Amino acid sequence: MKVACVGAGPAGLYLSILLKLRDPSHDITVYERNPEGCTYGGGVTYWHGLLDKLHKHHPASARAIEESSIRWNEGVAHVRGRTARCSGDTGHGIGRHRLLEILAGHARSLGVRLEFEREIFPEKLPAADLVVASDGIQSTLRTQYADHFGTQARRGRNRYIWLGTSKVFEAFTFAFVETGHGWIWCYGYGFSPEGSTCVIECAPRTWTGLGLDTANEADAVALLERVFAGVLDGHPLVDGHPHVGGSGADGGAQWRTFRTLTNRTWHRDNLVLIGDAAHTTHYSVGAGTTLALEDAIALADALHEHAALPQAFARYEQERKQALLPVQSAARYSAEWYENLPRYIHLPPQQMFALLGQRHSPLLPYVPPQLYYRIDRAAGQVEALRRLKRRLGPKVARTVQARALASRK
Ligand SMILES: Cc1cc2nc3c(=O)[nH]c(=O)nc-3n(C[C@H](O)[C@H](O)[C@H](O)COP(=O)(O)OP(=O)(O)OC[C@H]3O[C@@H](n4cnc5c(N)ncnc54)[C@H](O)[C@@H]3O)c2cc1C
Repeated sequence: MKVACVGAGPAGLYLSILLKLRDPSHDITVYERNPEGCTYGGGVTYWHGLLDKLHKHHPASARAIEESSIRWNEGVAHVRGRTARCSGDTGHGIGRHRLLEILAGHARSLGVRLEFEREIFPEKLPAADLVVASDGIQSTLRTQYADHFGTQARRGRNRYIWLGTSKVFEAFTFAFVETGHGWIWCYGYGFSPEGSTCVIECAPRTWTGLGLDTANEADAVALLERVFAGVLDGHPLVDGHPHVGGSGADGGAQWRTFRTLTNRTWHRDNLVLIGDAAHTTHYSVGAGTTLALEDAIALADALHEHAALPQAFARYEQERKQALLPVQSAARYSAEWYENLPRYIHLPPQQMFALLGQRHSPLLPYVPPQLYYRIDRAAGQVEALRRLKRRLGPKVARTVQARALASRK
């Protein structure tokens, strides 16, 4: 079979490896618009479940990925000078650049042709039996047939920027800082012995209030370094996007709003969507790369089992849509939680962490919405108490609320 994968992100590269492993006679080319070694973003997180799958499907690349990853066993949240810790929270971080280098090396050694600096345009697709749109969230191949695919996008409210730092966080670290214009927060995780990723996020009001909407990059970074000096320990923040391209963020370090994307169907004739081209989940659950690699596994399996493309696509799509449901749900809750942060920030640190901890297990079978519901209620009570305190004074307010709660039981 002649296969063209458009986009050399994790999805396209891993699929090419798996297809070649299954049938070395496949003629596979991966096209990538960027030069080799150029990519966006610093590091990405993943959890042990992914490693198990990678070891099962291609032990050599799995070993290299594991060896190139940083591991942490603890989460730490700094809120208002208080620190909450959550131990036993094991995760892995790997540089995106290194991950792609590993996958590209293995793809090449298996006989996959990699063509860098080759942008593919939808009106001029390569002639192939199977064309894989592994071209990320902004997929032009998908956009060309947006009606057919039933693409829907929901843009988040908050602004975020994906930066790096030379500080190597030993734990997955959150820092929430209150400014005169509202809260701004970052989460950092190590991805190599030299550095960490640092994603910074805030509400639009905070973004404009702090002047981040108009500041040039150097000034914005300097301001953020001051805001997060407490966790950076004097280390600088650096552009996490030294190179162009990519789905999450193209064209350098910039403030963005996240687009959650779904498609009604993932295939059209011999064209199939995979990874971010097919679906995205809010970055706060750190799952997109894992999902992209799992898509590749499912598509390779389906193509192996069904010679006819329509059957293979149907099986792939059904399996992956099903598997995505809990992660999409977790991502939705997580994004909304951050968008409503002022409502929760006054909760006791351990309750805060119960929610932040959801980020660390998005791929577990079930992320309980009840937890969000419970904590949402608790946050509502905290808010109500604060309002009462303002009106009636602290002592009377606590008595009134205690009576109200007792009468609800
Ligand atoms: C701030 C942020 C933090 C994140 N953190 C994590 C995390 O911690 N863990 C995690 O698992 N995921 C994370 N993600 C998500 C993750 O980066 C993506 O889900 C993942 O990269 C998707 O892989 P992909 O192969 O589908 O697409 P991409 O990795 O986006 O690859 C697409 C490739 O296609 C190329 N391309 C595009 N158009 C063309 C064309 N026309 N011709 C040729 N080439 C083309 C692009 O240059 C790019 O190289 C994060 C995302 C963001 C925005």
